[in-house]
Amino acid sequence: MVHGQGGFKFQNWARTYGSSPELFFQPTSVEEIKEILDLARQRSKRVKVVGGGHSPSDIACTDDFMVQMGKMNKILKVDEEKKQVMVEAGILLSDLNVELSKYGLALPNLGAVSEVAAAGVIGTGTHNTGIKHGILPTQVVALTLLTASGEILECSESINVEIFQAARLHLGCLGVVLTITFQCVPEFYLLETTFPSTLQEVLDNLDSHLRRSEYFRFLWFPHSENVSVIYQDHTNKVRPRPLQP
Ligand SMILES: Cc1cc2nc3c(=O)[nH]c(=O)nc-3n(C[C@H](O)[C@H](O)[C@H](O)COP(=O)(O)OP(=O)(O)OC[C@H]3O[C@@H](n4cnc5c(N)ncnc54)[C@H](O)[C@@H]3O)c2cc1C
Repeated sequence: MVHGQGGFKFQNWARTYGSSPELFFQPTSVEEIKEILDLARQRSKRVKVVGGGHSPSDIACTDDFMVQMGKMNKILKVDEEKKQVMVEAGILLSDLNVELSKYGLALPNLGAVSEVAAAGVIGTGTHNTGIKHGILPTQVVALTLLTASGEILECSESINVEIFQAARLHLGCLGVVLTITFQCVPEFYLLETTFPSTLQEVLDNLDSHLRRSEYFRFLWFPHSENVSVIYQDHTNKVRPRPLQP
């Protein structure tokens, strides 16, 4: 029987939003999540799932039932030939990145932080930069969704296609994402080059900057003209990794 904790206070990472869920769950299996949904249905409660809790909004907040997916964080399958990885939806990207490296694989693009969950980053359309790169949901080739009625839907570009397209950027509204399969690329290294410029120069030459660097971004210092331009590009000049303590 699944156990829900009362009196739990949820706060997002920046502590700008929070809520007091009536019951807080950390399931370890799909069966437990189904039990939570059954209980919610019996008591007419809404269920909200939370990943890393990093969203700078109230998108993961609820006063009803909160389901934290941190214990469902396994790597289920690595297909080295297709360069695809199937994971449980609660895995943190910080853990996934380390595991992928063991297979010489990597996600093609990442947001700024890694203490975020696989289902959380796709659910809000997390992005990084680079004109050639899509948002993180574009790296998803398949996922499994548990709907409110307890049905499990396999979704991909060939199965449940319309649901797949919506569920890749689910906003926490379509059910519980159980598993995700990501398309990876061979592991790579980036060389970062940073130089100062002005906001005017960057805006005037935006197309050129975007063409010149695969992962181009710039940081503007408010109330000034100053800008820091950052180029990151693939490199073979690899420094040896620091020894692990
Ligand atoms: C310091 C910082 C830096 C950031 N940098 C970037 C950046 O560079 N680029 C960018 O685009 N964004 C950035 N973000 C935003 C962040 O990437 C997103 O908010 C992302 O969704 C956080 O992932 P999470 O696992 O914490 O999601 P959560 O906040 O936990 O959840 C996000 C949404 O997904 C739902 N959800 C989570 N897991 C499941 C599941 N298994 N099933 C169904 N629904 C689920 C939640 O209900 C919620 O609706 C940053 C945020 C912070 C705090």
